[in-house]
Amino acid sequence: MLQIHNTLTRKKEIFIPIEPGKVRMYVCGMTVYDFCHLGHARVMVVFDMVARWLRASGFDLAYVRNITDIDDKIIRRARENGESIRVLTDRFIAAMHEDADALGVTRPDHEPRATEYVGQMQSLIERLHDKGLAYVAENRDVCYSVRKFNGYGKLSGKSLDELRAGERVEIAGEKNDPLDFVLWKHARTEEPAEVKWTSPWGEGRPGWHIECSAMSSDLLGDHFDIHGGGQDLQFPHHENEIAQSEGAHGHTFVNYWMHNGFVRVDDEKMSKSLGNFFTIRDVLKKYDAEVVRFFILRAHYRSPLNYSDAHLEDARQSLTRLYTALRNVAPADASIDWEETHARRFREAMDDDFNTAEAVAVLFDLANEANRSGSAAVAAQLKGLGGVLGLLGRDPLAFLQGGASEAGGDEAGEIEALIGQRAQAKEAKDFAEADRIRAELLARGIALEDSPQGTLWRRA
Ligand SMILES: [Zn+2]
Repeated sequence: MLQIHNTLTRKKEIFIPIEPGKVRMYVCGMTVYDFCHLGHARVMVVFDMVARWLRASGFDLAYVRNITDIDDKIIRRARENGESIRVLTDRFIAAMHEDADALGVTRPDHEPRATEYVGQMQSLIERLHDKGLAYVAENRDVCYSVRKFNGYGKLSGKSLDELRAGERVEIAGEKNDPLDFVLWKHARTEEPAEVKWTSPWGEGRPGWHIECSAMSSDLLGDHFDIHGGGQDLQFPHHENEIAQSEGAHGHTFVNYWMHNGFVRVDDEKMSKSLGNFFTIRDVLKKYDAEVVRFFILRAHYRSPLNYSDAHLEDARQSLTRLYTALRNVAPADASIDWEETHARRFREAMDDDFNTAEAVAVLFDLANEANRSGSAAVAAQLKGLGGVLGLLGRDPLAFLQGGASEAGGDEAGEIEALIGQRAQAKEAKDFAEADRIRAELLARGIALEDSPQGTLWRRA
């Protein structure tokens, strides 16, 4: 039975869907004004893994991940670039899809754009206003009054006073309380017409938090099963979503809250000012996308994930071991026998709060057994279970030869030519020359393996 660590209760709970056999899941997505970075890669891959496991477990899943296509950073960037917001956001949505596709992330069922839900956001704000939970501040922004909502702080596990103390309190300004947040920003004259919507409170645009309450409600209903996102969104974003949705509807918003851990780089916080900020594109220039996915999934989703060249190199070597087993023992079909011991361990691991670290360990046990026994059924099991995590789906040789054979470029031809020369040298008993060629290839990062089928090569 699936258990999920629920941020709201701070413990693992047995997962019981609201509607038997169905799961409705919402994950906070990207603000599209720049390329996605490693933190985004983790959110996308982690919740893709969750979605795949829910489906593999037989649930009928509806998965929504929103796109924030209106906010301060977007408006600023569009102005700097001298382009329209729509052109800017369309471009970065396309880039996000390219990155997600490369990482093997299946598209969510819905990817709503905030700007398409402004009407629903306004209805929600009106409802909050009618209930006395929202007020128009002196500067004409509409704000949420956190002290009017009883459960504020329950996701963070903190009282209002503790949260206030933790806030770097800007002068309360027009707000009644420093924790109050903006639901509707009134239009500033310098802003372009593109970001102004008419509303009962005058022209303006929505605040950030309200979009998730409005879009999740519209696509999944006012009460759904799983809400996910990065740990950094727990407060204030998710706390505010709860206040908005439960405040407006008067009942529970979400049953299970899931948060993935931070990504660090060389054990430091990733930030532009530290110069250790990586976009997915930067990383994919250096590493195979499946290696990056494997690196993300072999850690538990709630643990911090430390990105470094050493760790990525280690992930590459590990994935190489799995693919080597598949190359050595060609699997029959990639079907899964769930009654088999390894598959049962894999299922137990995944049902234990999506413990992919343990599930990946099972893959290594299968690879060892495939190597030892040469059993095609074991290799089929390895390929099948790897597939549940979105791994091991490629031709093993293509992976092991790392792009060169896929590209069919000159490099592969050159390597094959050297392998041919080495074979001739061996024929002529010129072992010194044969060894020299092997060493030359190794110096270029190419390892040779002599097998009954001839000499195979792979990236070392
Ligand atoms: Zn959100």
